[in-house]
Amino acid sequence: MLPEHKSVSIIVPFYNEADGVGEFYKAICAPLNRLPDIRFEIICVDDGSRDGTLTQLLALAKEDSRIRVVELSRNFGKESALTAGLDVAEGDAVIPIDADLQHPPDLIPDMINAWQQGAEMVLARRTDRKADSLLRRKMTNLFYLLHNSISDIIIPSDVGDFRLLDRSVVEALKALPERQRFMKGLFAWVGFKTVTLDYSVASRAHGASRFSGWKLWNFALEGITSFSTAPLKLSTYIGAVGALCTLSYAAYVIAKTLIYGVEVPGYASILVAILFFGSVQLLSIGILGEYLGRIYMETKQRPNYIIRKQHPAQMEP
Ligand code: UDP
Ligand code: MG
Repeated sequence: MLPEHKSVSIIVPFYNEADGVGEFYKAICAPLNRLPDIRFEIICVDDGSRDGTLTQLLALAKEDSRIRVVELSRNFGKESALTAGLDVAEGDAVIPIDADLQHPPDLIPDMINAWQQGAEMVLARRTDRKADSLLRRKMTNLFYLLHNSISDIIIPSDVGDFRLLDRSVVEALKALPERQRFMKGLFAWVGFKTVTLDYSVASRAHGASRFSGWKLWNFALEGITSFSTAPLKLSTYIGAVGALCTLSYAAYVIAKTLIYGVEVPGYASILVAILFFGSVQLLSIGILGEYLGRIYMETKQRPNYIIRKQHPAQMEP
């Protein structure tokens, strides 16, 4: 084994997962115990849970020295929890995985194997999405189609955050200064030698998804605005087409007036034109606003997360 292939950090974001902590721990231990040559650390990021998640994690950390607990000061969202995990991870490779067992821990040995063969990023691709509702599947597909057709960065569909990242990839990610972190996009943006493994997704082991329709919609907007400026161009083109139509309509009106003389003014056509351009303008301002809002948030340079405490406590180097 190469000397830089010795230790692996598993990063697990936890948000109100009290019912699942024990089950997750059991499931993650089995594959790790099969790899005695590799040193593991399991970084459990408690994303401001309001149930007993933290207490349970701390109890586990007392028993198992591989477990580290990072306690965030409030709920910052999964992307920020992951970022926190990446920042504190020390392994030669890092594997983010969900706490709800929708990502099979049994794939970890295969991922590590592919990494030892030279891959810098090992993607886990779900082969079916039966666990998600039909509507969510359809919307997800639509999002990837739209995103990939208007952005320079292609996000492979059906791969999530469950993947293995080599230390070099982690350092590249940490060097990105942006606050608004659409992880799937950033993972694709950094590049590196990538290998894909397949798995089929399980239903959530307990509880329900923390992502409501509204959250997912905003998440999708985040993804598109972080990696594409195409929506900004939209209003230019709608405007251009609108202007062309208006011009030809004006020519028609002038010709008609010259030939047939003045008739009763067209009330309906004026109203339609006003309403149409009014809404196009509002839409364009809205799109501008989406970007402006993000620039505003970005300029504040606030940290993505705040750590209340780490267990075991970190020594100053
Ligand atoms: N999660 C988190 N913070 C949040 C929401 C979710 O850390 O604000 C964690 C959650 O505990 C789980 C993972 O992110 O480990 C995925 O969450 P979920 O299963 O709700 O998302 P889905 O699988 O539906 O995308
Ligand atoms: Mg889930």
